[in-house]
Amino acid sequence: MKVLVAVKRVIDYNVKIRVKADQSDVDLTNVKMAMNPFCEIAVEEAVRLKEKGVATEVIAVSIGPKASQEQLRTALALGADRAIQVLTDDPVDSLAVAKLLAKVVEEEQPGLVILGKQSIDADNNQTGQMLAALTGMGQGTFASEVVVDGESVNVTREIDGGLQTVKLSLPAVVTTDLRLNEPRYAKLPDIMKAKKKPLDVKTPEELGVSTASKVTLVKVAPPAERQGGIKVGSVDELVDKLKNEAKVIS
Ligand code: AMP
Repeated sequence: MKVLVAVKRVIDYNVKIRVKADQSDVDLTNVKMAMNPFCEIAVEEAVRLKEKGVATEVIAVSIGPKASQEQLRTALALGADRAIQVLTDDPVDSLAVAKLLAKVVEEEQPGLVILGKQSIDADNNQTGQMLAALTGMGQGTFASEVVVDGESVNVTREIDGGLQTVKLSLPAVVTTDLRLNEPRYAKLPDIMKAKKKPLDVKTPEELGVSTASKVTLVKVAPPAERQGGIKVGSVDELVDKLKNEAKVIS
């Protein structure tokens, strides 16, 4: 069974986000980029399925500018067998990504597609769901456990107040939650080996998909600056301030 993993290039989660002076977008100048953390979990899960003998091949896919090949090489160093880049410098929204992934799914016919539950830059939480709708596959979102059992996969999901397990017939779409696994670090020899693994480049035009969006980014504003804290002298003073200044208790 082939497993397709979608990998997104995003701002490294350790970086403090800066907004452009004209508030048109986040400033990406000289900013460290990395693989979306939920996609790292998706790669790890796919590689573990291969190590268990459940998956025969792991294919990493990324849609974005040339630089997103760095994240594909990381996926290859972590254990993916080959990579596909859909090269575009246009901003792509979730629907465009899902349509492009659907085309790759049509070509590759994977048994399982694993995506992150959400990209930490745009917080869309849409692509996996849209891909499932476009391809007609079942979806197991926010997975904290994935068990392939013959022609189906059991996905345990974290929901309000507990865990829910759904059974999906294969092929299926799974999106990863934080507790699914702890991704490994790439070892130096694997990083060297990854340079030689195949990486195909396609374009949205070749796949027959328009990346035009119906959504326009109007404005990005940074969060309000936090006010400095103060030290209170007693519990009575704290209660008084909470009541009369912050007005959070009565
Ligand atoms: P989102 O719906 O944008 O929050 O993203 C959820 C997941 O969809 C990500 O964790 C990726 O697995 C996948 N995804 C989103 N955008 C891309 C992209 N440009 N290239 C590859 N995968 C993507």
